[in-house]
Amino acid sequence: MVLEKLNNQVKNCRKCRLWQYAKNAVPGEGPANAKLMIVGQNPGLEEAKTGKPFVGRAGKYLNKVLAKNGILREKVFITNIVKHLSPENRKPWPDEIEACAPYLKAQIKAIKPKIVVLMGKVAWEAPRVEGIMYLETYHPSAAMRFTKIRKKFEEDFNNLKKRWQSFHHFCA
Ligand code: URA
Repeated sequence: MVLEKLNNQVKNCRKCRLWQYAKNAVPGEGPANAKLMIVGQNPGLEEAKTGKPFVGRAGKYLNKVLAKNGILREKVFITNIVKHLSPENRKPWPDEIEACAPYLKAQIKAIKPKIVVLMGKVAWEAPRVEGIMYLETYHPSAAMRFTKIRKKFEEDFNNLKKRWQSFHHFCA
């Protein structure tokens, strides 16, 4: 219920300029009681077309890394700190992040995951909610491009899996 209401607010949001450039807002998707939440920067073209997060190239790579670590994507709530595509896929501007971050905070408060993984510098700016563990890693787009970053990104997910192996809620 809370999430549905938030989704509608995001879809009708005019708090910054970005709504003008996207076909769809991308509020995020996943179970309302997900134990793991993954947060990226903002939707790209594919995501804006479909209204779903991480369905393009970066998403396909992320799916692979999740699967490799036995993490079921359908058990994870996946979203972004900024919910709209930006022109030419540029980095969201500070006022756009500031305008959009309260939606993420409200999602975290509603879902109450155990862990929130923040992918990339923009996502690292996510508002923190007390009692929830946050992990900062790189963005999958950077991981796809640079070997060193890819190693670290994959290691981070591997550590996440190891750390939480006893915690079967989001593992296969
Ligand atoms: N990159 C992101 O940061 N988020 C998406 O949803 C897709 C690509």
